[in-house]
Amino acid sequence: MNANTLYQIMSLTLCMTGSADTLWAQQTNPLQETNYWGKEQDFLLRQGEYQFGLIRQALQENPPATGNTTVRKLALSNLDALLHNTLYDSSACLHQFIEDKIKPIAVELQQPASEGLKIYKLYNDGFIVRTPSTTVAFDLYRGKGLIPDTLMQQLIEQSDVLFISHRHDDHADEFVANEFINAGKPVICPSDLWPDKPGISHWRAENPLDKQLHLSNGETINITIYPGHQSELPNNIYVVTTPEGFSVAQTGDQYRKEDLEWIKEIRNRSPKLDILLVNCWTLNMDELIAGFAPQLIITGHENEMGHSIDHREPYWLTFRKLQQQQTPYVVMTWGEQYQYPSKP
Ligand SMILES: [Zn+2]
Ligand SMILES: [Zn+2]
Repeated sequence: MNANTLYQIMSLTLCMTGSADTLWAQQTNPLQETNYWGKEQDFLLRQGEYQFGLIRQALQENPPATGNTTVRKLALSNLDALLHNTLYDSSACLHQFIEDKIKPIAVELQQPASEGLKIYKLYNDGFIVRTPSTTVAFDLYRGKGLIPDTLMQQLIEQSDVLFISHRHDDHADEFVANEFINAGKPVICPSDLWPDKPGISHWRAENPLDKQLHLSNGETINITIYPGHQSELPNNIYVVTTPEGFSVAQTGDQYRKEDLEWIKEIRNRSPKLDILLVNCWTLNMDELIAGFAPQLIITGHENEMGHSIDHREPYWLTFRKLQQQQTPYVVMTWGEQYQYPSKP
């Protein structure tokens, strides 16, 4: 039995008996150690644990805003540094960080929505967009064991519809799709994803497709599906307009030069886009943004942990790409949220 296990057992026993001997706990709690000489891995894990905690606190004290303060940039780039050290990939502190960030969303979604629109950023390119009438989910994905099934189920319970951009498994999570289907909720995706699966609506065409979707809560949302691609792979770009008239686009893994030809015309076809949810590594970000002409930009897909570290796109690079943008933008991490329009 190592010192860690011993400490956990003793802590549990002390919790259960309520007779904590703090002096004993301080002496044996590895968190209280003052040096880690000769224990490099333990040292890095404790340091990571400390940093994840500080990042969480800094982000809580400085919530997402279009100003993108230095404190947030520092916290997010510190997070980049941690997430690019593969030592933490399967660490308890990473799992705890994600769960602590996402759990409050599941709790909040059980309450009635406030006025306007709220965007919740989940793992990878997953988003939930909510208005008083509708809760729309995009590309919900658990990661490889990062979001527990029960937590994901709570998010799905509060969502009315799921849009999946394309078939890559960091966007198309079959567990998630099945939960929606079993609850009788619509799942929309391109034709090449689970082609024979019952309960799925395969919406994809050569040209933009305008659809209306009637939800089980009695509301109707308007959708345009644009035929995007990730290289040659079909990638639906969804523009969803809620009953309140807010419109939100999600680009999935859009990445193809030829598509920019028609993307630059979207501003004429789907005018007055409120929010663009864009993959942070899309091709020619500035051109794509100009095509959509949104009121607000929110990026997704940073730090997909299933990728090698060179394609775990960091927040600091997102800031670099957007720093010249005239359109307001917000950079968020997992479990953060933004109210639109922002309250004065
Ligand atoms: Zn992809
Ligand atoms: Zn992806």
